[in-house]
Amino acid sequence: MSASVAAMTNTKEIGAEVIRALNSMNIPPKPEYYQVWFSHLESSNDALSTEIQSKIEDEGEVDEFFLKAIHEQYFELAHPPKQIERFAVEVLNETNALQQLSKVFDTNTKQFSSDLADASQSVGDISNDSAATTKLLNSLVDIAQDAISRNNQLENDLTNASKKIDKLQSSIDSIARDAKTDFLTKLNNRRYFDSTISHLITAATSEKTPLCMIVADIDHFKSFNDKWGHPVGDQVLKLVADVLQENVKGQDLLSRYGGEEFAIALPKTSLKDAETVADNIRVAVSKRKLINRANNQSLGRVSMSFGVAQLRDDWPADALYKAADAALYEAKQNGRNRVACWSDAEAGA
Ligand code: GH3
Ligand code: MG
Ligand code: MG
Repeated sequence: MSASVAAMTNTKEIGAEVIRALNSMNIPPKPEYYQVWFSHLESSNDALSTEIQSKIEDEGEVDEFFLKAIHEQYFELAHPPKQIERFAVEVLNETNALQQLSKVFDTNTKQFSSDLADASQSVGDISNDSAATTKLLNSLVDIAQDAISRNNQLENDLTNASKKIDKLQSSIDSIARDAKTDFLTKLNNRRYFDSTISHLITAATSEKTPLCMIVADIDHFKSFNDKWGHPVGDQVLKLVADVLQENVKGQDLLSRYGGEEFAIALPKTSLKDAETVADNIRVAVSKRKLINRANNQSLGRVSMSFGVAQLRDDWPADALYKAADAALYEAKQNGRNRVACWSDAEAGA
């Protein structure tokens, strides 16, 4: 395919090839899949093309879920959501408005003190004239009241502006939460996991504490989906996510890493303890009797396989995931519904 890709320089030509390719893989030509495949054929993103090629080498094909995950990773999450930009502009406007208001406040105060200065000057000029004095005092009261009501108005405006800013802040907080959360399971998404693991690696290296990773994958999930349908499969993903959540501690970093695959980073945890965590999850998942909520039909059970690895001193950033994934491969090869540790995988390789 790469020779023909290299020859394809024309956008229209690539577009037509994308449609042909999606069609031949039975993938609906949704804009996001089109974008992924276009980028692949255009060779505009090496990492994306490498992921696609290795998926094809490993499994002979790609499916809709894979393309969706690739799209999420390379296109959606690479950029902050549009709403964030919109809210940032609004916050900026509100901040500018506040600045304007405080300038007006300043001007009002200056105006008030110069009015008073004029008035006291007049007091000196007319101190023997009681009618003039009364008139002057009344006008002083008017000036003071006017200043008070102008300042009250400003205070109201400032309070309203700061309420609006609070609201914008909470919108930004919720968008930021959404950007790191997987929509279906509400676990952390892959982007968040990838950006946080590097901090955990740095901390483990400098503190000289063990850091482990578990990569977990549901067994034969494709046949489960084929048998019961995707919406039911989605329910199972949520249930598995709940079981995972129940079995990790606050310090652990849990995420839905892709389709039916989950990754957990366990700081300050030995390989043996991480293996125990993985096995506890394995047992808990395999014990759950699955019921279709819509009709109470029994769906049997699902099992999961796990790969566990512990960070070694000389490993580059992505080596920990690769080691855990290699162990997961061993667990799958050895019959699934089991936990394999990276050293076992290495020994077996
Ligand atoms: P293995 O035991 O080797 O892991 O087999 P498998 O069938 O689980 O693995 P494979 O990678 O071939 O298939 C993964 C399947 O997971 C494909 C797709 O049907 C399913 N899947 C991925 N993401 C989702 C999702 O968001 N919802 C649902 N319902 N299914 C998903
Ligand atoms: Mg699987
Ligand atoms: Mg998988």
